[in-house]
Amino acid sequence: MPLARSLITTVKTELRGRRLTDTELDAYDVLSPELAKRARIFRIRWLPSDYLGITLGHRIFLATDVAPDGKSPLLAHELVHVRQWHELGIVGFSMGYVSDFGRGLQANRRWKAAYSQIGAEVEARLATEAWLRRHLQFGRQAADDNQE
Ligand SMILES: [Zn+2]
Repeated sequence: MPLARSLITTVKTELRGRRLTDTELDAYDVLSPELAKRARIFRIRWLPSDYLGITLGHRIFLATDVAPDGKSPLLAHELVHVRQWHELGIVGFSMGYVSDFGRGLQANRRWKAAYSQIGAEVEARLATEAWLRRHLQFGRQAADDNQE
């Protein structure tokens, strides 16, 4: 039953997430290949407005489809967060993220400005910009997607 098999594969992917393809493992050099192999990508239907992706540990939740061609700044950005989670641990990453956000909110009184100044987000944007420069053949139009 090809249809049943296809349905089962779809459900498994929804529950477990997909791994990066070999092409993606080669392309996304913002983290070690060993760590990249542990990443799982989930396509979800809803995220808070303005968010295209959220990373929790090695799980990346995307509100948009990303082709497995190794050319997505959004996925590169989220993979930087996978590395940060790995380096800092759950407590270190979360505490830093929340305290940076709180400080930013106090200083700016604006959600978006506070969010953009979170240290982990600044690092992810810079690392993704550097990644884009290394892969400039597809770079320009993709640069605008480097915001999550
Ligand atoms: Zn981010």
